[in-house]
Amino acid sequence: MTQQQYGNATLPSAYISHAACHRHDTGEGHPECGRRISAIEDRFIASGLFDVLRQFDAPEASDAQLLRVHTRAHLDAIAAAVPESGYARLDPDTVISVGSLDAARRAAGAVIKAVDLVAGGEMETAFCAVRPPGHHAESDRAMGFCLYNNIAVGAAHALESHGLEKIAIVDFDVHQGNGTEQIFRDEERVLFCSTYQHPFFPFTPSLPNAENRVNVPLDATAKSEEFRAAVSQHWLPAIERFEPQMIFVSAGFDAHVDDDMSYVSLTDADFRWVSEQIVDVASQFSGGRIVSALEGGYELNSLARCVETHVRVLAGL
Ligand SMILES: [Zn+2]
Repeated sequence: MTQQQYGNATLPSAYISHAACHRHDTGEGHPECGRRISAIEDRFIASGLFDVLRQFDAPEASDAQLLRVHTRAHLDAIAAAVPESGYARLDPDTVISVGSLDAARRAAGAVIKAVDLVAGGEMETAFCAVRPPGHHAESDRAMGFCLYNNIAVGAAHALESHGLEKIAIVDFDVHQGNGTEQIFRDEERVLFCSTYQHPFFPFTPSLPNAENRVNVPLDATAKSEEFRAAVSQHWLPAIERFEPQMIFVSAGFDAHVDDDMSYVSLTDADFRWVSEQIVDVASQFSGGRIVSALEGGYELNSLARCVETHVRVLAGL
């Protein structure tokens, strides 16, 4: 592949998923369902995007990799809760079934694989189309559809296995990434930047802003202008000061106007714009290195469109 075929990107982009992520069955009518991944993949096939991405199957995250951000008690509790048939609930929203543990291991393993590809210099960017999502999972608690904190597992892998010393995680899911915040609250090597509807789920009190934390709550009435101002005025200056060596994205698309999971009303153009800002700042400070993982996004049409746009921007297409 030549540089021209990938626009501004100098290396190809990876798409990482696994069939197990389809088999995490959350029950009839649950918004966090396997059709989310199918909608994304159908669109990538129809648009030809799969022709220019390198596809990888996600490996399983190991216990040791998960234990960098989760407690042993958390791993044991999830394993013990998986039913032999039917469904079990870890909280009112978080449903698991027989395939959930495999899916969760693959979801976290996808971000590990992405880090190995991107930090190893084989790929410039990687997108992980995975479920269950991760950013609500705290070190010792599953929550809000999330079992393991996929992005945190990946970030910890970049720090501990690849020797990176400064990482930024940006989270534009409409729900606050309480798990990522909790896991890295005292980690000076990780800058966490988040926008989210407030007050809203997860209803956990977010921590005050700090050198390594930029929380920007948005009113339920927020639209493009407020979101873009939050990113331009708060995220980007913090990232520029921090100069991260790699940028992670908790890519949730549930702030879209067509997604009835929230009241914030963003458009396709906003998700393109924020993706472009992330690529821009990554090219300045991070050698273009970006690892992005799917979080929320439940209206299948807008989800598939916006993920396609996000990945095209990441790939320099
Ligand atoms: Zn969400």
